[in-house]
Amino acid sequence: MPSPAEPKGSLAIVGIGPGSRDQMTARALKVIAGSEIVIGNDTYLDQLEPLLMGKNVIRSSMGKEVERAKTAIKLSLKRHVAMVSGGDAGVYGMAGIVLEVLEHENVTIPLEIVPGVTAANAAASRVGSPLSGDFAVISLSDLLTPLNVIEKRLESVFSIGIPVVLYNPKSRGRPHNFSGAISIARKYLSDTTPVAIVRNAYRHDEGITITTLGDVENHYEKVDMHTTVIIGGAESRIWRIGQDVKGIITPRGYHRKYVY
Ligand code: SAH
Repeated sequence: MPSPAEPKGSLAIVGIGPGSRDQMTARALKVIAGSEIVIGNDTYLDQLEPLLMGKNVIRSSMGKEVERAKTAIKLSLKRHVAMVSGGDAGVYGMAGIVLEVLEHENVTIPLEIVPGVTAANAAASRVGSPLSGDFAVISLSDLLTPLNVIEKRLESVFSIGIPVVLYNPKSRGRPHNFSGAISIARKYLSDTTPVAIVRNAYRHDEGITITTLGDVENHYEKVDMHTTVIIGGAESRIWRIGQDVKGIITPRGYHRKYVY
C-alpha cells in the first residue's frame, strides 16, 4: 500500500517537434495519449488538437513559464500530467525551469523528459546538410540572458568558423539583435558564407530563403520570432545540382580521406 504522501501521478515534459504531427516521436504521441492533463501554451496545444479529446487541457500564456511549471508539478502529485513544449523541451524550453522548481520545492515525482526534434535539426533538414560536423546554437533573446553575454558568445563561436544556428533571431521588442549578430559574423567570415532563413519549418506556412552573409541584409524582413537562421561556417558552401541552388553543405571531411 502506498503511503498517503506518495505521489500517485507523474509528470512528462514532452518535446513535440517543430510543428507537424509527422515530426513528433512515437514516444511523445504515446505519453500524451496516456496523460490525463495536458498543459502548454496555445500554439502547441492547437497543433495537438485531435490528440486532446477527453483530456483536461490547461492553456498557459507565453512569459508565464514559472507559473506553468509550478502548476504542472502540483497537479502531477495526483494525476498523470504531460507538459508540452515546442521542438525539444530541453532546448530553450520548459524542462530546465521544471527541474529547477522541483529542486527548489524538494519534490520527488515520477518524471520523464521526452526528447523532440529541435528547430536547429528541423531547419537544417529543409536546406540540405549545413550542420554535418561541429556547430553552435545561440539564442538572440535577451529576456533571460544579458545582451553583452550573448555578444560575447557570438564573437567566440563565429571566430572559430563553425556553423551557427540562431534561435529567437528577432522579435518586436528586440529588432536589432539580428543585425548585430550579422555584423559580428562578418568580422570573421567571408561575404560568400551561405545563410539559410527558415521560417515555420514543417508548418503550413513554411518559408525558406538561401542567401549569403554579404546579402542577408536584403532579407531582414523575412526574419521574425518564428524563424531559425543558420549561418554557415568557414567550410560551408551552397549546394548546387547543375545551376539550381538546392541548399547548403558543410562537408564533414570525407574529401580529405577518400576519392569520390
Ligand atoms: N524548444 C524549441 C525552441 C524554443 S525557442 C526547440 O527546441 O525548437 C523559440 C525559437 O525556436 C523561435 O524563435 C525560432 O527561432 C525557433 N523555432 C521553433 N520552432 C520553429 C519552426 N517550426 N521553424 C523555425 N524556427 C523555429
